[in-house]
Amino acid sequence: TTTLMAGKRGLVMGVANDHSIAWGIAKVLASHGAELAFTYQGEAFGRRVKPLAESVGAKLLIPCDVEDLASVDGVFETLKQEWGGIDFLVHAIAFSDKNELKGRYADTTRENFTRTMMISCFSFTEVAKRAAALMPNGGSILTLTFGGSTRVSPNYNVMGVAKAALESSVRYLASDFGGDEIRVNAISAGPVRTLAGAGIADARLMYNFQRKNAPLRRTVSTEEIGGTALYLLSDLSTGVTGEIHFVDAGYNIIAMPRLDDLKV
Ligand code: NAD
Repeated sequence: TTTLMAGKRGLVMGVANDHSIAWGIAKVLASHGAELAFTYQGEAFGRRVKPLAESVGAKLLIPCDVEDLASVDGVFETLKQEWGGIDFLVHAIAFSDKNELKGRYADTTRENFTRTMMISCFSFTEVAKRAAALMPNGGSILTLTFGGSTRVSPNYNVMGVAKAALESSVRYLASDFGGDEIRVNAISAGPVRTLAGAGIADARLMYNFQRKNAPLRRTVSTEEIGGTALYLLSDLSTGVTGEIHFVDAGYNIIAMPRLDDLKV
């Protein structure tokens, strides 16, 4: 561990349990000296997140459902009161109706399209704006995306469309906030077995396919995603903004499985 994050304070949104990508990121940031605040979605998740937050010395644990604007505002009011300002934000939030994370994208309903975009895309813009207002000395903002944004991934469907919009948001927000030395980036993670990941039909098949076909012949751990988050949220990456950084064992470079594996 280092002191890369010493003196830096930030908010982590999206820890549901100890399998969450946000938790892998939080552990790495804390071990390099960051002071963390967490949000949780509802009391059931709150009971899970509390001991995790305590284990990394976090004192601020704030409820937040991004569908409720008052609760979003409440988070940033609390941060302003308690800390005055922040140095970084991690947004690791996504949702779509499980019934539409299978079958055809064409069958997406109007209601779920709107809700998926609201929670998985617009929430990032909404929290980034409020976080930036608390970053008078510059800062770094990070979200999580998936390669299904630009390439068709079976069953990912409307979530792929939302991730494409999220990635575009990263670039527009990077431009909006760049003049204030606030950077905005995304990590495009390979498949991880999490609560959200389990909502996608045949997630296990996709996970195993990527494990077999990625250049590194494996998937990635949440700690590896955390390592890249440490780079993007620390002063190591002060020249980097608007970037979509893959942490996927190289899977995104592959056009088709290795020929040796196709031969029967
Ligand atoms: P997770 O289930 O652990 O985390 C998802 C989080 O979203 C939960 O903490 C949940 O409370 C939160 N959330 C959902 N709706 C919300 C709402 N209305 N208000 C507030 N919070 C809400 O799963 P994860 O896989 O760690 O997901 C984190 C991020 O990583 C997501 O953006 C996901 O799309 C992305 N991602 C996941 C994978 C993967 O394979 N698991 C791969 C690439 C990117």
